[in-house]
Amino acid sequence: MTKLVSLVVPFHNEASGAKAFFERVAAVISSLPEYRFEIIAINDGSRDATLQELLAAHKIYGNVHVVDFSRNFGKEAALTAGLDRASGDAVIPIDSDLQHPPELIAEMLAKWRDGAEVVLARRNDRLTDGKLQKLSANFFYRIHNRISDIDIPPDVGDFRLMDKAVVTSLRQLPENRRFMKGLFAWVGFRTVTVHYDVAPRTQGMSSFNLWKLWNFALEGITSFSTAPLRIWTYVGACASFLALLYAFIIIIKTLVFGADMPGYASLMVAVLFFGGVQLIGIGVLGEYIGRIYSEVKHRPVYIVREEHARDPL
Ligand code: UDP
Ligand code: MG
Repeated sequence: MTKLVSLVVPFHNEASGAKAFFERVAAVISSLPEYRFEIIAINDGSRDATLQELLAAHKIYGNVHVVDFSRNFGKEAALTAGLDRASGDAVIPIDSDLQHPPELIAEMLAKWRDGAEVVLARRNDRLTDGKLQKLSANFFYRIHNRISDIDIPPDVGDFRLMDKAVVTSLRQLPENRRFMKGLFAWVGFRTVTVHYDVAPRTQGMSSFNLWKLWNFALEGITSFSTAPLRIWTYVGACASFLALLYAFIIIIKTLVFGADMPGYASLMVAVLFFGGVQLIGIGVLGEYIGRIYSEVKHRPVYIVREEHARDPL
């Protein structure tokens, strides 16, 4: 039996590049006759002609399964929908903007055949990123991996190959706020890495600005670590200890030198400082309560408007 490989491809306002994407993937597929392929294309609430492009590809290729979301639910939701539908023995999420070279799939499949259950695609450098993006990405991985229970390999995105067993375990994770990079790392499995060069985006625009990336980073940390919550115990303990020390000094001073009135500045500084510290603590609590709130509502991760299945292979 030839093995079936599923490509999971999220599309958000990618009408200008969709055709080129399918053409390049088709070329890769025909160079790998020892596998069968299906492409799960998710239209994540695009406001341009992406859906028409996907339906055209559905007609031309026959192995394209189109999922049309009712609105933009975000890349993580699109990937989740794709993984839910993928029936392949191996599943490969890949960006639709051709920043992830489809040619790498051959190398990934070779590693999979050699027994790897997860094949990570690691970018060689971040040449296509700005300086600030590079710095903040490094900072994120450092912080995240230090304080959370799982390690996210740096410079690895969603582009990877996963064995069916890995996808099955991902489907069992019940959370509906899905930080995929973290979930991928959390399930584990035998992992190897291949390297690639990120291509610059040739068409369309990136959907992620700095503010979105910041929120994405917060999402990652609050998904996999409770350290920001627990740290307040220690901050509080240190503050109490210092306060006690200072109280002791004041009492002794008052006993020896008598009461003196001045002290407005230090009083004000202490009040404002601890007011600020407390608000930060409450803010952190808020982040987690917000997460709990959205989880307990048990809303579905995405809503599908319509779906066009691939031809039976
Ligand atoms: N994407 C998506 N939904 C979104 C944002 C992005 O499905 O809300 C898709 C997008 O079409 C692309 C991939 O996710 O295939 C990566 O997005 P993008 O290229 O904008 O991000 P970047 O490469 O700049 O990190
Ligand atoms: Mg991109």
